[in-house]
Parts: sequence; structure tokens; C-alpha cells
Amino acid sequence: MHRATKIVATIGPASSSPDILARMIAAGVDIMRLNFSHGTAEDHRQCAEFVREAAQQVGREVAIMADLQGPKIRVGKFKNGRVILSLDSTFILDAECELGNEKRVGLDYKNLPQELNTGDILLLNDGLIVLSVQRVIGKEIHTSVKVGGELSNNKGINRQGGGLSAPALTAKDMEDIPIAMELGADLIAVSFPKNAMDMEMARQLINIAGAPYGYKPKMIAKIERAEAIPLLQEILHASDGIMVARGDLAVEVGNAAVPALQKRMIRMARKANKTVITATQMMESMIQNPVPTRAEVSDVANAVLDGTDAVMLSAETASGRYPVATIETMAAICLEAEKSSQVELDKDFLDHTFTHIEQSIAMGALFTAFHLGAKAIVALTESGATALWMSRHWLHVPIYALTSCLSSERMMALYRNVVPIHLESSLDRDTALQQALEVLVKNNYAVRGDIIVLTIGEPMRQVGGTNMLKIVKIGDSP
Ligand code: PGA
Ligand code: MN
Repeated sequence: MHRATKIVATIGPASSSPDILARMIAAGVDIMRLNFSHGTAEDHRQCAEFVREAAQQVGREVAIMADLQGPKIRVGKFKNGRVILSLDSTFILDAECELGNEKRVGLDYKNLPQELNTGDILLLNDGLIVLSVQRVIGKEIHTSVKVGGELSNNKGINRQGGGLSAPALTAKDMEDIPIAMELGADLIAVSFPKNAMDMEMARQLINIAGAPYGYKPKMIAKIERAEAIPLLQEILHASDGIMVARGDLAVEVGNAAVPALQKRMIRMARKANKTVITATQMMESMIQNPVPTRAEVSDVANAVLDGTDAVMLSAETASGRYPVATIETMAAICLEAEKSSQVELDKDFLDHTFTHIEQSIAMGALFTAFHLGAKAIVALTESGATALWMSRHWLHVPIYALTSCLSSERMMALYRNVVPIHLESSLDRDTALQQALEVLVKNNYAVRGDIIVLTIGEPMRQVGGTNMLKIVKIGDSP
């Protein structure tokens, strides 16, 4: 069965063995996320190696996404690992405290006291603990506990409404970027960017660190700050894709605002020819349970109907009890949701002026495939650009993207409705078209009599060179 929506899975203690990774890929993972908020450089290198091994074993390339920690503000550690905060008691966040107790705890972002005002609301541990700022005295933030409970080591802190000025790239990120490039990350996720400049800065650093390895990864902006929302268009412009990072975003803008924002972000990303990942708590209960809740099923299905490229798993696969079953369940939900989604070709592109030749070919291919009832679209592509243009519109015709370039093949793992396939095609156009059709038939993606729409560039093997469209009935000579 052809599944259009892609699955991102986070690697963690529950999934860092070659055997489990192979089972996860076989179950449907397209992108493996290395979370640089946890683990050492050596852990990440080892995981990346395991992923490449597992992919080879299964016979399908997956992309690796390195997710930089960014300026997540956290409390320090406690003497006993955790404390219980009770309602209306006073609790101090103290930039100079070494080891915390019931009365106070340290902070990893030492400037936080200067940035807060009386009356600010702080949300800890994804909003499970709520503190109201009473006053700031030097390096100490005196708060009153509004919602209490257990607080343990290194839990995150957000300010309601956002607006904290910690820079997007931290000293740790600067150290992690060369590691991500060395281990061959295909995608880099930047946490907490505030604006386009944060993304441009990250891209520059990554391109410099990546130069010795000869490739440029795609840049994903995690939208998880309130102030990023009004700047979404410019952030999209500076990125290759975005993540609807619902975890931190919900804490900053309020839970209730997130579903509408998700829809808007997905719509804007696709319109801007960028990719989009919907993330966090999608199958949360499967951390513990072998089946999801009805609400989680609906959440995943709705992200599919919104048009997301990918849905993401975090703790479900990093530390959950059922990493493989979670992926199987998620894949099944996506497939079912795709069946019911609108088949109609968006008409919006009909009124638009095209800006690129390959975009024109891509739109021509979609239009033709839709109206002619083609079985498949085949894009012979070097960079994957034609496949990206086509995948921004959803019609129920699978797009097979054949490339000889390994990094393009992995990158396209994220594109909705695109099946990347490796093909060392001939440099002769007619032979290459023939080879493409043979791949389709060999994989049972098409049979004799099916109509296939192909796109190709001439001269062959030039990046960004797609300039031809061909329609073939299988069985004819192409
Ligand atoms: P995280 O990002 O898992 O790195 O926090 C995703 C989110 O905030 O939703
Ligand atoms: Mn986050």
C-alpha cells in the first residue's frame, strides 16, 4: 500500500539497537530524529551508524534529522533529584544556586532574572507546574506556586506569551553542529528560532561545518516560540521546512490556540514550496499502552487531512514500551486518513504565474496525471526539486522520484506522496525512460496498460534541469 504521509521517529534508549531500528524502518519510519537535547556526541555517532546499517538491511534509505537543543531554559538539579511544590508556597529560581531543594533551584540561563517582571507566569515541565513571579531580587526570582506537583532535575521553563531573548543557537549547538555534519545528518532542526536571521545564521554555520563532507543538509525551523508566529513567512523563506513543535508552542501560546495554528502553518508551508512536520504527543499514550486513544487517532488523522508532510513520534519511540507497534499503528491511521482526504487537485496553481521551468513541468505533470487518470508520476530528478514542487499538491497519484544522488534520495524521504528510489540511470534519455518504467514494473507499482506521466531533464543529470514531460502507456515502447 502506498502511504503518502511520512513518519519521523525519535531515537532514544528504547530504540538505539540495530535490530529495533531495522524493525522500525520496516514498520514505516522515513526519518530518524537524533535529539541533541539528550545523549553524548558518541551516542549520536553510534546511532547514526546503526540507522545506516538498519536501512541497508531493510533495503530502504531513511533520512537522519539532527535536532539541535537550542536555548531551552531549564532548572538545575535537586539534591534529591526532585521536590514536591505545594500550592501558594514560595519557590525561588536562583541563578546562583548549585543544588536545589524545597525552597530554591538553579537555572541554566543565568540572565533569566533580568528578563522577568512581577506578574509574569512561568510554566515548568510543559506547563504541569505554574509559577507566578512575585519579585526579582538580584539573581533570584521569587515566585508563588499556582499549580504545584513534582518538579525534577532539568525540567524546562517557558514564559507564558514568550518573549525571552536567549539566542537561538547556544554554545552547545555550536559544538553539536560539526558532529551532526560529521555523522551525515540530512536534515538539521533548529530549536526556538525567533526570526529568519536565526535560520540564516544556523544555515551559514552548517554550510561551513559541512564543507569538508561536500553536502548541504535541509534546514527545518521548529516553530515553538510565540514571536515566531507573526514572522512565519520570513522564517519559511529562510528555511527548507518547518516543524509544528506543539510541545513548547502550546506552553507559550496556550493549548487552545495550537490546532488552528497547525492548520495555518501547514497551509503556508505548502504554499511556499516548503515541507512541514507535525510533532509532539501524537501517540503519547502509547508510551505506556499497546493501543492509542481515540483522540490520538483523530489527531494523527487530522494532521494528515491538514496536509502535513510528516507526523512525528518523540518519547513514544525514544523511551516508550512499544516503539515498533506505535509506528505500525501510526502508519495505518495515515493510510486510512489519506483515503478519505479530498482527491480534488487544488485549483490555486491554475491562476498563478510560474517562476521556474521545473515548477511548470511539475504542475503540467500533476494536471495531466489528474485528468488522464494516470497510475503514477515518475520524476527522473537529480536534486529532487521537481518532486518537491509536485508534492506540494495532493492528488491520489503516487510520485516515484528516481535519482542517482544519495543525498537527494534521503532528503525526499520527507516529501509527502513521494517514493524516492535509487537509479543509476543511463545518460541517454530514451534508455533512462525505459529503465524508469522497468523499475516501476519490477516493484509492482504499475502493470501493462497503465498510463504513466514522466518528467525528465535534458541534458541529463543536471541539477534543476527538468524541462520535459512524457506520457507513456506501459507496454508501448517508451
Ligand atoms: P522538542 O521539540 O521535542 O525538542 O521539545 C518539539 C516540541 O517542542 O514540540
Ligand atoms: Mn521543543
